[in-house]
Amino acid sequence: MAKKIQLNESDIPTHWYNVISDMPNKPQPPLNPETGEPAGPEDLSPIFPMGLIEQEVSAEPKIEIPDEVRDIYRIWRPSPMYRATQLEKALDTPAKIYYKYEGVSPSGSHKPNTAVPQVYYNKQEGVKSITTETGAGQWGTALAFACAQFDINCEVYMVRISYDQKPYRKVMMNTFGADVYPSPSDRTQAGRNVLAKDPDTSGSLGIAISEAIERAVQDEQTKYSLGSVLNHVLLHQTVIGQEAMKQLEYAGDYPDVVVAPLGGGSNFAGISFPFLKNNLREGKNTRFVAVEPASCPKLTKGEFMYDFGDSAGYTPLLPMYTLGHNFTPAAIHAGGLRYHGASVLCSQLLKDELIEAVAIQQLECFEAGVLFAKTEGIIAAPEATHGIAQAIREAERAKEEGTEKTILFNLCGHGFVDMSAYEDYFAGKLSDHSFTDEQLKQNLQEVRDLAPNRG
Ligand SMILES: *Cc1c(COP(=O)(O)O)cnc(C)c1O
Repeated sequence: MAKKIQLNESDIPTHWYNVISDMPNKPQPPLNPETGEPAGPEDLSPIFPMGLIEQEVSAEPKIEIPDEVRDIYRIWRPSPMYRATQLEKALDTPAKIYYKYEGVSPSGSHKPNTAVPQVYYNKQEGVKSITTETGAGQWGTALAFACAQFDINCEVYMVRISYDQKPYRKVMMNTFGADVYPSPSDRTQAGRNVLAKDPDTSGSLGIAISEAIERAVQDEQTKYSLGSVLNHVLLHQTVIGQEAMKQLEYAGDYPDVVVAPLGGGSNFAGISFPFLKNNLREGKNTRFVAVEPASCPKLTKGEFMYDFGDSAGYTPLLPMYTLGHNFTPAAIHAGGLRYHGASVLCSQLLKDELIEAVAIQQLECFEAGVLFAKTEGIIAAPEATHGIAQAIREAERAKEEGTEKTILFNLCGHGFVDMSAYEDYFAGKLSDHSFTDEQLKQNLQEVRDLAPNRG
């Protein structure tokens, strides 16, 4: 039995898989908040290039990956798959546990899988500068790397608390050539408004998105880029699941359950959708479990409604599970999972019960992360420990039931730049977060009052 299952560069997928083509209920359209009409390309073209807008609305089952993109993918793809033999032994489980490791990319997570094609399509259309937001810094680093590959300027609005707490992420972005500003900043009206009310705010992803969009709207040659949530982002990540399927084929296996953490839904979609295709087309019965933090539980405690993607309300309204666009989650270390909504595609699939969701507290996640480090030797990103924790739950259930099920999870990033999180965990400074429905009520009421949710 092989410990790791490697593919050749020629095995890098040639197409991205578009799950929309196989969804029994197609996702509802995004709406223009002013008119209440479906948002058209003209609503999106000030901030995104046409190449990506076409992918955003495409119903084609597969979309070809440009050669220039595959060429850059070769730096880290195909990513390795491992059989978690040491973890299985420690758990004394009859289950087989496999994980796909995306931490081998230039920024240490799955994010470059979409950063590279996004910058490619911008370059094709003559864009000179790209703005974005970043929380913990994973997305900003990935976009900075991709912009360096195509010689485009990169401007990153980094949530203030992370800017102060994770200085090395900022230096990584600077090394790839990006300019990084703490958000809220005084460079935008959205930022200035927030600072006027609360000069000491720690910032949020929603505010940083507003700032980055505002900058893009002001300049013809500047566009905006988002690292999760949107259809085209989820599409690009499907290289993960396609490779994983081939790797499991070599191992003579097929997953009974696929597990991944969910912030906006891109890495979960990336590993799940190619297998979900086989459920929808061939009657396979794989389960798909998205794992969210108990402090930001949009899938398990949010409501399916139209809501904004950012706090200032610059984006179109999206039909999704949401905690309300003004919801500020507790300052947990898994920064990439602190987003108020889930992607339209994952939301619709959950509504249709084609995928499942579970919320886990951060102490269980760090405990799982430490066991994983000791057994498998990889220190996982705090986000990634959510996937590990659920994989362990599945393996323990298999033991109780005496079944030999096959578990596949996505190890979406390493935690080498997150060691302060582990330090806090060992020092006993982390606690579980008691989430109360009271916090939610007001935020959700504001969203229910939006026109499309009233009708
Ligand atoms: C960004 C990020 C996430 C969350 O984003 P998704 O779009 O849900 O994948 C999770 N893990 C890591 C390591 C990240 O960088």
